[in-house]
Amino acid sequence: MFPASFGYQAARSVEEALELLTKYGEDAKLLAGGHSLIPAMKLRLAATRYLIDIGRVPGLSGVRVDGETLAIGALTVHADVASSDLVRQRLPGLAEAAAVIGDVQVRNRGTIGGSVAHADPAADLPVILTALNAAFVLQSPSGRRTVPADDFFVDFFTAALKPNEVLTEIRVPLPPSGAGTAYAKLGHPASGYVVVSAGVLINRQSSGRCASARVAIGGMGSRPFRAAATEAALQGQALTPEVIAAAAAKAVEGTDPDGDTYASADYKRHMATVYARRAIEAAVERATGQK
Ligand SMILES: Cc1cc2nc3c(=O)[nH]c(=O)nc-3n(C[C@H](O)[C@H](O)[C@H](O)COP(=O)(O)OP(=O)(O)OC[C@H]3O[C@@H](n4cnc5c(N)ncnc54)[C@H](O)[C@@H]3O)c2cc1C
Repeated sequence: MFPASFGYQAARSVEEALELLTKYGEDAKLLAGGHSLIPAMKLRLAATRYLIDIGRVPGLSGVRVDGETLAIGALTVHADVASSDLVRQRLPGLAEAAAVIGDVQVRNRGTIGGSVAHADPAADLPVILTALNAAFVLQSPSGRRTVPADDFFVDFFTAALKPNEVLTEIRVPLPPSGAGTAYAKLGHPASGYVVVSAGVLINRQSSGRCASARVAIGGMGSRPFRAAATEAALQGQALTPEVIAAAAAKAVEGTDPDGDTYASADYKRHMATVYARRAIEAAVERATGQK
């Protein structure tokens, strides 16, 4: 199918993108990798009068350490997140999530900023970035603000982005030594998108007990679900297989997912506990240096 006709302008800087967003207002959309927006426009699920292409804006791509934070430019493509030595060494759960997005072509064009701005409830990165307590840097003509992941993903395909804002950077706190991260996904066999998934960050005390945990579950509704009951069941505990299994069994407490033609609500809820257990186990193995 062909999209409705639209105007196209390529911005050469964030400032120029902001000027164009201000000029066209809600008649404009930003274009990054185009791997969510263009299919949606072709299917006539989305339409816009102007596309503002930020894909070639310099300075918005790459991964760097900034103090105690890993700063990832919004235009960094999934393949570069997955293969970054910094990400693989310091936040392996994030590399794991980026590596299972779509296929090679999607991973070489799709961007981390586009994925989170799109806020697809079946996407991978929102789940792991929620578990990792990431923050999103939003630039507007009036300045810059930073929104934590727990507040950024608002609803189906809705992020806390105003029409005149550009997401420039994703900032992920670097976990202390002795911490572990992991991501596990049950993908749809046809599309590869998330049926259910789990992102996990485990911080350990020097005794080996769990100091704190963040567990986010995908596929349970309109946005990543923080599995508070699982997090509470891990905190302060020795991370034995029994404790992990009992905590993971609570991962869907408080959820009410919709069933669909591939997976019933009961199947999703069951599989979410399975994938939560796998991700917690992997994070604990990394935290203890076994993986
Ligand atoms: C065949 C296929 C399979 C896929 N499989 C998966 C999968 O398994 N898992 C998964 O998570 N994803 C999957 N995707 C989606 C893919 O990850 C997209 O790349 C990603 O969701 C969007 O990134 P993009 O750079 O292409 O954004 P675009 O399509 O360019 O933009 C998406 C939206 O974000 C906005 N936007 C983009 N960048 C910014 C910014 N910097 N600031 C503010 N707003 C911005 C745009 O205006 C638009 O509304 C798949 C896509 C395809 C085509």
